[in-house]
Order: sequence, then C-alpha cells, then structure tokens
Amino acid sequence: MGCRETGHGYLRINGIKVIADGSLGARTAWLSRPYNDEPGNSGRLNYDKDTLLRIARESDEAGLQLAIHGIGDATIDLILGIYEGLGGASRLRHRIEHASVLREDLIRRIGRLGAAVAVQPHFVVSDWWVIDRVGVERARYVYPFRTLVNAGARVGFSTDAPVEPLNPFETVYAAVTRGRYENIELLRYTENETLSVREALHLYTCGSAYLLHEENHVCRLEPGYLADFIVLDKDPLGVDDRELREMKVLETYVGGVRVYPAD
Ligand SMILES: [Zn+2]
Repeated sequence: MGCRETGHGYLRINGIKVIADGSLGARTAWLSRPYNDEPGNSGRLNYDKDTLLRIARESDEAGLQLAIHGIGDATIDLILGIYEGLGGASRLRHRIEHASVLREDLIRRIGRLGAAVAVQPHFVVSDWWVIDRVGVERARYVYPFRTLVNAGARVGFSTDAPVEPLNPFETVYAAVTRGRYENIELLRYTENETLSVREALHLYTCGSAYLLHEENHVCRLEPGYLADFIVLDKDPLGVDDRELREMKVLETYVGGVRVYPAD
C-alpha cells in the first residue's frame, strides 16, 4: 500500500474498498427498518463499528481514499458519520460506493459534505424486484441519482462489472431510461430521477474522473488534457434512447494514440 504510483501512468493505487454491508438481492444490505419481504430481517453490517472506524482512520492517515460499500440506509448513515468525523470527505474524496437506499436526511448530509458517491445505474434494471425488498413507502429512496446531484453530491458512474454488464453504454441506457422498456416497477415511483443522455455522459466522464482525482487529466478534449477518447458509430445525443445500449465503439485513443482497432 506504500506505493501510490507505478510510474507509467496506467496503474495507480488510489485507495481501498471496504465492503461494509451486503446486497438488497440477498437481503444483507443493512437497512434502518426491516425488509418489506422479510419483516424480521434488517440486514447487517459486515464489521463491528469500532473496526470500521479504525480502518477508516488508518486509511485516511495513510493518504488513501476510502471507497466504502454502503447499500442500506443504516450503513450509509454510519459511513457519513465516519466521514464527518474525519473532517469531511473533500481532501481525499472519500467515497460511498453504491449508496442505493438514501433517505432525504442522508442526501442532505452528503450534499453538505460534498461527498463523492459512485453509483451503478444498471442496478435499476437488474434489481427489478427492489420494491419487494424495500416496499412502496421507501421506493423513492432507491437510486435517487438526480436528487443526489441536485443536493451537491459529487456523483460518478461505474458498471459494477462483472456483477453487471461491462459495456458502459448499458449503464448510460439504464440512467436515461430507468427501466422504461423493461417495465421496471421502480420507475413509477422515481420517474423524476431519470437523467438526460448529456447528464449521464457528464457523470460518467467528468463525474467519475473527479472520484479518481483525474479531472485535470481526462474528461475534456482541451489543451493540457490527455487525448483519451472514443469514436462511436452514432451520435449518442441524437439516437432514440432505446438505441443507447447498442452504441458501437469504432476507435479508441489513449493519450492521443489509437489502441483500437490495433494496427
Ligand atoms: Zn460494492
């Protein structure tokens, strides 16, 4: 962990991931109230609180960014308490990973901290059963991407591959359609959380770059930035939203050099 840079720019250790709770699918994400479809169970924390706090302090002191996996609202509450105790999340940009179930008070705290949140929009489509788990009353707390951004959270996208599809356009498609074409029940309660293609692409480029401390190198095609970019077969801002998942990458450039297709 002492080595943060490998020297050639392709591999860097930013921080550590801590898996503080489980998943909604397995009913192991830690909720502040029991699961709708298993009333005796609220999920659980994978660590005792003191251990989690010690890991967080040691990581912070070592200058390593924390990326704490928190899916249930009780876990996210605890993570925010830790980040608030560390004097805010801004310097190392400590992250909350997933942040799936977010009560309004948690969103306000995330906004106040300007905390970094890594979300995986494809969960919206994969977790088609999520209303069974949390019930209708908590539906509006699930994957509230627009509310998070509006509150001042620093949001970035990721795929969560290999759990979710590796193709990033599946993630863009899910953020924009929110399961409209798959009849996902969550959409009915959270239609206001859909994003435009432009917003989704921004969060997936500049948003994610901020989470990685990379916003001064990538995410813009401007002098002084690395020329990392792709060439697509169609304009994502011009296609029908159903076609977003079918976007094809024709060419990939890294640092201005074409790496795909290879010569
Ligand atoms: Zn995770």
